[in-house]
Amino acid sequence: MIKASAYTFKILRYDAAEPGNAPRFATYRINVIPGLTVLTVLLRIREELDGTLAFRSSCRSAVCGSCGMVMNGEIGLACRTQVATFESDTIILEPLPNLEVIRDLVVDLTPFWQMYEKIQPYLIRQSPVPDKEIPQSEAERQRIDQFVNCILCACCYGACPVLAREPGYVGPAAAAKLARFVLDSRDERPGAALETVDDEKGVWACDTVFRCIDACPKEVRPTDGIVDLRKAILKHRFHKLLGKSEP
Ligand code: SF4
Repeated sequence: MIKASAYTFKILRYDAAEPGNAPRFATYRINVIPGLTVLTVLLRIREELDGTLAFRSSCRSAVCGSCGMVMNGEIGLACRTQVATFESDTIILEPLPNLEVIRDLVVDLTPFWQMYEKIQPYLIRQSPVPDKEIPQSEAERQRIDQFVNCILCACCYGACPVLAREPGYVGPAAAAKLARFVLDSRDERPGAALETVDDEKGVWACDTVFRCIDACPKEVRPTDGIVDLRKAILKHRFHKLLGKSEP
């Protein structure tokens, strides 16, 4: 028989609709068998102990990117974090940093999505769209491979120290997504499209401390994308300076 161990979950509770109530930790004691994830425990707490607990979740398999949160100080997805991997039997759960809390573990992702929209996260073509698919070589696909894996969970956004002091910063996820399209052999966006991230709130604001890479559950390296964008911007500026058309 599989033996369950007792864990204490301390979860930050707050309701922005009732601003008079200060944030507080609520404590739940629950038996957990090996293999259970933090998300499974949250679902059990809500079903069995406290139906008022708020958190986001959907796919339960690290695809939808809904359940990003802070677990004992580390940012990650609750659905892919097994409780048994924590050294302590007390687990503290907090909402993602750098975003306003709506309720408990649910944050307002509006600024995250605004930055995502700003970078035009889709293929842009100048030439007519062909009737058939546009083939890519293996090497061309590999250039964008890691960035395609992004599930938009905002874990990197929560981990970013630049966003903590500069909320207008484009952020690692949107920058990585822009790099995904700029590096895509099928994309034909004009170099001027890079100017949206060519300022002190764009890719030049990055401190290059790699917290986004540490936090990403899908092994995306947003800093790589930021470096690629910086190179592309310098190339664009150079062409502009010389009055040359871009290749
Ligand atoms: Fe999440 Fe990684 Fe995409 Fe950031 S880059 S949104 S951490 S999957």
